Amino acid sequence: MKLSSVPHTLEFKYPFKIALYSRNTTAVVITEISCEGIIGYGEASMPPYLGESAETVLRFLSKAKKILSEYKFPLDLEELLNRIDLIEEKNTAAKASIDIALHDLKGKLEGKPCYEFWNLKGYEAPNTSITIGMDEPEVILEKLKDADAFKILKVKLGGVNDVDIVHTIRSYTDKAISVDVNQGWTNKEEALERIQWLKDKNVLFVEQPLKKEDLAGAVWLKERSPLPIIADESIQRYADLERIKDCFHGINVKLMKCSGLNEAHKIILQAKKYDLKVLIGCMSETSCAISAAAQLSSLADWVDLDGPLLIKKDLFKGLSYVEGKIVLSGKPGIGVERAEDL
Ligand code: MG
Repeated sequence: MKLSSVPHTLEFKYPFKIALYSRNTTAVVITEISCEGIIGYGEASMPPYLGESAETVLRFLSKAKKILSEYKFPLDLEELLNRIDLIEEKNTAAKASIDIALHDLKGKLEGKPCYEFWNLKGYEAPNTSITIGMDEPEVILEKLKDADAFKILKVKLGGVNDVDIVHTIRSYTDKAISVDVNQGWTNKEEALERIQWLKDKNVLFVEQPLKKEDLAGAVWLKERSPLPIIADESIQRYADLERIKDCFHGINVKLMKCSGLNEAHKIILQAKKYDLKVLIGCMSETSCAISAAAQLSSLADWVDLDGPLLIKKDLFKGLSYVEGKIVLSGKPGIGVERAEDL
C-alpha cells in the first residue's frame, strides 16, 4: 500500500506485549509501531549476558515513545534511529525492536520487502545451521534425527564432554558442523589443541573460543588456527569492529547485539571491507526478528537463524524452513504476520 504525500503521524502502540514462550520462561517483547492502521512489528529478545530484561526494554520503549510521536511518514529512518540510540547507551535489544518495527512499517507502506532497501536479493535462500546443544548422547542422537533436513549443524562445545559430543554426532552423520564455544575454553593453548583435533572433522568455523576480553589470545590463535575463528561476544556494535578486526577471521552479527537492521547492515559492509567473514546469528527469537535478520542473509557467508525452531511457540508466520534453507515470504516489510492474537 502506498500513502498519499500527506505526512502521516506515527503511532506507538501500548501496551507492549510480553510473550512468555519457552520452558525457561524467556520473554520477548513485541513492539508495534503503526501509521494509518498499517502495523510494523518489532521484537526484543533479551539474553541475560547483555543485561536487558522485559522491564528494561519496556522502560526504554516508553522513553522512545516521546521521540517517535514527533515523527511523521515518510521519515528519515537514519536520523530517527540515531536519536533513539542516543536516549541511553546499551539497551540494544530494545533499540532493535524499534528498528525492526520501523523497517517493517516502512516496507509495508512502500510496498516492498526490506531487503530491497539495500538492493539485496531475498530469494537466494541460504542454508541455516540448526543448534544441537550439549547433552547426553541419546538426547543428541534424538536431536540429530529431528535435524535431518538441515545441512549444517551448530554444536556448542566448551565443556568437559567436547570429544564425546563430536564423536556422537560423527557416529550419525558427516554433515558440516559449526562450533560455538561461547568463551568456554580456558586458554589459547587448550583452544588450539581442540581446534587441531576438530580440523579434519568437517568443521566450518569455531565461534568465540576464548573470553571476550582476551584479544591477545585471539590474535595468537588466529595466527595458528587451521579453522576460521569467529567473534561473537567480542563484538557487539559497529564501534567494536575497529578494535577486533585483526583478532578474528570473521564476526557474528546479531540484531539484538547491535541495535537492529540499520547498524547490522553497516557492520556487515565494513566487515567485508576488512576481509572478515560474516555470520548472521540470533538469540531466542520468534519469526519476527528472524525474518528481519534474514533480510540481510544474502550478504552473509553463513547464517545461523534457527530461533523459531528452538522455541515452544512462534508468534508470527511467514518465514519457512525448506530443506534446511530459510525461505522468506517476499511480502512487504519483514514479511511476517501475527500467528494469533498476542
Ligand atoms: Mg555464539
